[in-house]
Amino acid sequence: MHEARQYRKNEDGTVTCSLCNHRCTIKTGRHGICGVRKNEQGTLFAETYGKISAEAIDPIEKKPLFHYLPGTLSYSLGGIGCNFHCEHCQNWHISRATPDEARLRDLPPDEGVRRAVAGGCASISWTYNEPTIWHEYTLDMGTLARSKGLGTVYVTNGYITEDALRELAPMLGAYRVDIKSFSDAFYKKICGARLQPVLDSAILARELGMHIETVTLVIPGLNDDMEEISSLIRWVVEHLGPATPMHFSAFHPDYKMLDRGATPVATLEKIYQRAKELGLKYPYTGNVYSHQYENTYCPACGTILIERFGFSSRFVGLDDRQCKNCGEKIEVVRHVT
Ligand code: SF4
Repeated sequence: MHEARQYRKNEDGTVTCSLCNHRCTIKTGRHGICGVRKNEQGTLFAETYGKISAEAIDPIEKKPLFHYLPGTLSYSLGGIGCNFHCEHCQNWHISRATPDEARLRDLPPDEGVRRAVAGGCASISWTYNEPTIWHEYTLDMGTLARSKGLGTVYVTNGYITEDALRELAPMLGAYRVDIKSFSDAFYKKICGARLQPVLDSAILARELGMHIETVTLVIPGLNDDMEEISSLIRWVVEHLGPATPMHFSAFHPDYKMLDRGATPVATLEKIYQRAKELGLKYPYTGNVYSHQYENTYCPACGTILIERFGFSSRFVGLDDRQCKNCGEKIEVVRHVT
């Protein structure tokens, strides 16, 4: 087994993990909240290092990421476990699986990078379940991936600690973070977590030079209050910048949350308009097939820059990183540096 990073040994034989903001203190023989980090006789092990539950070559738009290597493929990997317990989880079959019962395959970091290159991918994404709890594995694979010119993507709930995020910074290119709500009560009740650490880590990711896009799944009656959503948008504009792409996605009933219907498209359109009014340059709707608000428009003249159908993209008005019509500089990562 692979010894964990980011933890402390205590005199009484427990260990304290500092990878995410739960900061679990774990007795010997027990796991942390995420279910994949185990204390064995005073040493913390990352049980799922090098073990995957899912592998696919996806358009990067599926993450969703619209301003990081748009129009390219991303080699996408998932493991098991999660440090959140969301009632509406769409990947509960892997996020709630345990190392004992899950069907996992071995994939060493160098083999993952080789497969990404062989598959014609421009990046590797750790996605499907929470990558923070796969820290050591993603760190090793990502460092190798960057040395081969690949981009690297975390699709994350953003509960990572400052120290762990700083450790990832030299290798992590894009931080696609869920801001599930702008209410701490929502985080406590629905996810078993807190809001503020998510916001703090997003600010740090930006300071560390990562590309950031946010996703908010808009759930009828739970986080769709326009005042609350307006506060979230204002926060992003102020702290992450007006050029941060924000995706507002439609909820569909799943897992333990079957007591309400899907998000009306009109709600997402209203949020999109509000985001524009509040100065956000690149709002998007999500989970609504081929909606016009999934296109990228020039924030200066309104020309369509990237037209999207499902997960495919057509570059119609973008000249590298400039609007072809008015010359406006567009905040988009086209190449890995
Ligand atoms: S990564 Fe897992 S063990 Fe570590 S603090 Fe978070 S939930 Fe606890």
